[in-house]
Amino acid sequence: MTQGIREQNIRRIIDMEDRICQCQRCTFLAKCVRKPSMGKGELEPDIILVFEYDNQFTKDLDKVINLRNQIKQTFNLERVYHTFMVRCQPKACRVRSSVSCYADSKLLDKEYNCLLSNKPCDGIPINPSDEEIICCLPFLIEEIGILHPSYVVLFGDRVSEFVLKSYGVFEDIELNNSYKCDDMVFIAISNEADFDPGAVKPLI
Ligand code: SF4
Repeated sequence: MTQGIREQNIRRIIDMEDRICQCQRCTFLAKCVRKPSMGKGELEPDIILVFEYDNQFTKDLDKVINLRNQIKQTFNLERVYHTFMVRCQPKACRVRSSVSCYADSKLLDKEYNCLLSNKPCDGIPINPSDEEIICCLPFLIEEIGILHPSYVVLFGDRVSEFVLKSYGVFEDIELNNSYKCDDMVFIAISNEADFDPGAVKPLI
């Protein structure tokens, strides 16, 4: 990739991240998120890893580094980028659900204290709804389009189904399978915690 294209990619990713930071499509979610989850890694990637959302596994740096190293070995590729299908983590929260709140502002301060309870946020992370996925999916599709790697690894049923349908794959989507779209190979596999190089190698 030429230097000019790389710089253009960086500009486009920064522009997209600015829009993600301003995004209020999921009004309920966005109030309890200080900073949406952004992609990380090489900006000229050979491969993009897509997680459903920033979960216990992806928040553990050692686990992510270990997974990225396994991916490099399995695919025999060096440049890895990882990102998320939903940027704002939904949480189950007693305080929030028991209080009607019409304020437009965030309900978390910079230290992650809840403005409703005046205590550290103790919301429990939960899976995003289908509606939240559909709201956020355009950012992921834009990101894949900008970086245009050779491979996109989709972790889990929901990521595989939503992303592949966005690329026009409407057949029954199965894990441990690969799909070619827009000159990229999309590999649908089980969740990141269960990564099995032996199951992936035949798909490469
Ligand atoms: S989850 Fe995505 S679509 Fe919803 S508010 Fe956050 S950035 Fe916007």
